[in-house]
Amino acid sequence: MKMKRLQFLKTFSIFTMGSFYSMKELFKISESLAPDQQMPALFLGHGSPMNAIEENEFVAGFRQIASKIPRPKAIVCVSAHWETRGTQVTSMPQPKTIHDFGGFPKELYEVQYPAPGNPELAKKIRDTARTTDIVLDDKWGLDHGAWSVIKHLFPAADIPVIQMSLDYGKSPRQHYELAMELAGLRKKGVLVIGSGNMVHNLRMVAWNRLNETGFGYDWAIEANEKLKQYIKNDDHDSLIRYQNLGKALQLAIPTPDHYLPLLYTMALKGKNENIELFNDKALGGSLTMTSVKIG
Ligand code: ZN
Repeated sequence: MKMKRLQFLKTFSIFTMGSFYSMKELFKISESLAPDQQMPALFLGHGSPMNAIEENEFVAGFRQIASKIPRPKAIVCVSAHWETRGTQVTSMPQPKTIHDFGGFPKELYEVQYPAPGNPELAKKIRDTARTTDIVLDDKWGLDHGAWSVIKHLFPAADIPVIQMSLDYGKSPRQHYELAMELAGLRKKGVLVIGSGNMVHNLRMVAWNRLNETGFGYDWAIEANEKLKQYIKNDDHDSLIRYQNLGKALQLAIPTPDHYLPLLYTMALKGKNENIELFNDKALGGSLTMTSVKIG
C-alpha cells in the first residue's frame, strides 16, 4: 500500500510538474505518516541512573508503554542533563554513551547504548525552528537522561537518537514555544521524548527511605497532583507559570532542568488527543516518577 502511494506520487510529479523541486516536495510528503498515524510523544520520569540496569516497576512501565507505540523512524530526546547557552542538537552519526554521574557501581559505567545518530534530522530540526537559532553539536552524545530510559523502550539500539539541549537562557514559555514549532516531527515518524522528573528536589531526598516506593512528602504529593491536573485539563498556561503557583511547586521544582522536558512534551499535544499517565509514584520523599504519553 505504501509502495503504491510512493509510486503514485512519483508518477504524478513527473506528469504534472516535472521539476526537481516538485519531486523533492512530493517525496517529502510521501515520507510523512497519514494524519491518524502521528507518533505519540512521551515525558519519562527517569529517576536514578540505576534504573538503567535494575529491574523494577518503573522499568516495567517503560517497556509497557513502548509496546503501545509504533516503531519510530527516529527519536529526539530533550534530557534534563544537557543544559547549554543557546539550543543545540546532536548531529554526529554515532553518538557516544555518556556516563554523566559519579559514585555508582562499575556495572553502570559499562553500559553502552550504541544507537546511531541522524545528522539529516538534526539539520531538519535546525531549519524548522523559527524563533531559535539551533546550533548543530558534534561533541555531546547520549547522556543518561536519554540512554537510561530509551534502552528499556528500544533495547536493540537500532533506532537513531538525537538529543536537543535545554538553553538555560530561555524562559519556560520560550521553551514551550520552541517545542510547538517541532510538532510536525510527529507526522514524520519521530518520537519526541522529554526526560526529567516532574517533582525533583535532590537536596530533600530521604536517602534512608529510598527503597520505599510510593513515599512522598506532603508537598511533593500535592505538587504532583497539581501538575497532573494541569496536564489532564490541558492547562498549559499553568504548567508554564509553575513558579507562581505556590509553595508546593516551588519545593518540587527548585531548579528548572528536570521540569522543562515536560513542557517540550506537552507543547506537542493536539486538541482531543489522549493523555495516559504511568509510573505515577513518589520516591524518596521528594521525587516523582510520573510519566506521560500523549496520543
Ligand atoms: Zn536526572
